[in-house]
Amino acid sequence: MIDSATIAENLAAVADRIGRAARHVGRDPQAITLVAVSKTQPAAAIRAAYAAGQRDFGENYVQEWQHKAAEVADLTDLRWHVLGHVQRNKVKLVIGKVALLHGVDDMLGLDEMARHAWQAKVQQDVLLQVNLAQEATKRGCTEADADLFVEVLARSPGLRLRGLMLLPPFDLDAEAVRPWFARMCALRDRLQAAFAGVPTLPSAGHWWLSMGMSHDFEAAIEHGATLVRVGTAIFGPRA
Ligand SMILES: *Cc1c(COP(=O)(O)O)cnc(C)c1O
Repeated sequence: MIDSATIAENLAAVADRIGRAARHVGRDPQAITLVAVSKTQPAAAIRAAYAAGQRDFGENYVQEWQHKAAEVADLTDLRWHVLGHVQRNKVKLVIGKVALLHGVDDMLGLDEMARHAWQAKVQQDVLLQVNLAQEATKRGCTEADADLFVEVLARSPGLRLRGLMLLPPFDLDAEAVRPWFARMCALRDRLQAAFAGVPTLPSAGHWWLSMGMSHDFEAAIEHGATLVRVGTAIFGPRA
């Protein structure tokens, strides 16, 4: 059973926490987009969040996303975000159909995305995923390769780079994650200065930063996150 009232209350509580974290560091809460991560949750949970005003939703698995997107196809102003790795044979299913891909995580995947976007004559908004800690279990380019990926993205007509995405080493203690958020913010600032004036990239000051989950999004916001990806704090624990 989906408890719509609880989902609405949770959303209000998360919005409140986003507002406080932003104001704490002098940022405008409106500059932060809450992506409700609905993986494993039924379409009814998405409808409940939508009814409470939520519009941005994130899914990790392409097939699961396709099923749910079909079930809520009547909600035409809902924006889908695909989080994490998209298998190469699934790329064509998402290109041009989602608001934002978080993220591009290797050159082969980038090529495949660019090719399908070109063929479909669409411009797909994407984020570059950076594996700052170089964890073997996680995807993303290294910090050292980020410049090269940005150069390639700037030359890929079907892909529009909007910023960076971080999935830091997992730690329930947000204070332990904070240094990764700070380092990611510094990388974003360095890249947006280095590529200022490139017409196919966002202008300096407008690069997005996707980082922060249920247990650490306040710290992420304090370090410049413009998109936070929150699942369990909205929908409760996943099955
Ligand atoms: C599942 C997931 C989230 C949301 O995690 P919660 O802890 O439930 O908030 C955020 N980002 C990514 C990439 C995820 O896979």
